[in-house]
Amino acid sequence: MYIAVLNLEPQYINNAIEKIRRYHQGRGDIVEDYVPLFTAQYDKVYCSSIFSYTPKEHLFIDERWECGGTGFDVEKKLSPCIETIKLNMNLGWTQRGCNNNCKFCVVPKKEGKAHPVGDIYDIWDGKSKTITLYDNNILQLPEHFYKISEQIYKEDLEVDWNQGLDIRLVDDDIAKTLSKIPHAAYHFAFDHPNMAEIITEKVEILKKYGINRSMFYVLVGCKDSSDKTLEEDIEGALFRLNHLKKLKMNAYVMRYQKCYVDQPESFIGDKTRKIYIPLANWGSVPAALHSMEFYKDYLATHERGMPYWKNYKQLGLVS
Ligand code: SF4
Repeated sequence: MYIAVLNLEPQYINNAIEKIRRYHQGRGDIVEDYVPLFTAQYDKVYCSSIFSYTPKEHLFIDERWECGGTGFDVEKKLSPCIETIKLNMNLGWTQRGCNNNCKFCVVPKKEGKAHPVGDIYDIWDGKSKTITLYDNNILQLPEHFYKISEQIYKEDLEVDWNQGLDIRLVDDDIAKTLSKIPHAAYHFAFDHPNMAEIITEKVEILKKYGINRSMFYVLVGCKDSSDKTLEEDIEGALFRLNHLKKLKMNAYVMRYQKCYVDQPESFIGDKTRKIYIPLANWGSVPAALHSMEFYKDYLATHERGMPYWKNYKQLGLVS
């Protein structure tokens, strides 16, 4: 069989595509990255996309194609014989799923409830000093979290839980464990202004164990209630960014995109995109966030903020 694999976001390693590649190589098939010129010759084309907004109209999909990933279909799964392949490429999941049900998130629909799917030895190649884990909400499985942390500690690996840990579940024992293992900056989420109090409390716990600066994903652009306005969304984002600034934490502004039909609408469209650009430029760059006020300094004086002053003025957000 002559197989082609196509990762529509080549800037990211696509685990599903790599598992498919490994599976067909193991069967003795010829497996190559997709080249449009050879389309007629392929027996099968596997295509994966993680974002719904990645362009797909240019693809000439026919019955030989099998497309998956959140960007095509959140519910599509790999067959068990492919899913269970261990890649040992130093990045992957030890745990999938989440017991919460945040409106904007595809995880519960795609992965179901929190459950373990493996451990470090399924992911680590035995040589690398770093490992990246995409675990969806490992703190919902405390036993599994401690087991994985022990393995990381034993192998002296620097871990990056890059999908974020659930700040609400951090307690003294968890913070102490997190402080002991080598780690990239921990990531958490600050999805709504009503989390401010619990974030202050949990940051204090982290600081008690020497974790003094973490990064918080700040979701913006999600119309998570029917009467929420664009102005309220911007004010809510600024409130959270200023709160993180006070706590001396870093932020990453995540611009929300709707992935499937049941999700809330996004405020971010052709007419409003320019409102969110300077917010992300300011909030996600620690030097800007920690040294400037958004309206007063960044939009008024910074070269990456000034071009957008007029967009804020049109909305009446600045005068
Ligand atoms: S807690 Fe995180 S992973 Fe779970 S549903 Fe909410 S956003 Fe998704």
